[in-house]
Amino acid sequence: MATAIKPWLDQAGNFPITHIGGIPHFNQGVLLDAPRTGVLHTTEGGWVGGLAIFKQHFAPHFMLGFDADAQKVRIAQLVQVGTIGAALKAHNNQAIVQIEMIGFSKEKPWLPDDDTVAALASLMAVCATEYGIPLDHPWPDGDFGKAGSNPHRSSGKYGKVAGWYGHGDCPSPDTHWDPGNLEWSVVLGKAKQMTNDLGAPHSALAGPLAMATAPGSTTRSKKKSRG
Ligand SMILES: [Zn+2]
Repeated sequence: MATAIKPWLDQAGNFPITHIGGIPHFNQGVLLDAPRTGVLHTTEGGWVGGLAIFKQHFAPHFMLGFDADAQKVRIAQLVQVGTIGAALKAHNNQAIVQIEMIGFSKEKPWLPDDDTVAALASLMAVCATEYGIPLDHPWPDGDFGKAGSNPHRSSGKYGKVAGWYGHGDCPSPDTHWDPGNLEWSVVLGKAKQMTNDLGAPHSALAGPLAMATAPGSTTRSKKKSRG
């Protein structure tokens, strides 16, 4: 991946991404040669309360979910990608994207409301095409990392196996278990469907070979200014 990391995203599927400034963050880069990894959290509170905390510390790259003031599900970006998010206690530099989703961890299998699922899947789909985070979760549904020390934290997968992790899957000294027993396969399945609809991942469309083999490349190349 020689190309530069796109620091800010503007759109994920049907969801525009608002940029929220004035967020304290660390000017430390993520490890770009680490297996591409995303971490999902739940805020355990509402939009306003979550944002108030992130304006002081622990900010992730993205926050998404129901905003009671706006009366809708939305996505905001707080920290630029390429710089570490701070929603983990440690190992933040091995997660290129961290997302805080409005919601509450549950021990029973759960999904957020449909709009939040759509927003999360849309953002994961963009993160797959833009940052190469595979739409995989290293454990089957129902096998989730619990509070405190658990087999997921000591599995050695985080930092070695690319994909999407929950906070409860991330190694010690982290102890939080969010998002709990999330039905990952549903969210990731929707995200995969979205990337299929979008076409091949960005990485497969980079470079002169892809230009030469892309259908209609001779007629469309001059219009291709979106990047
Ligand atoms: Zn968390």
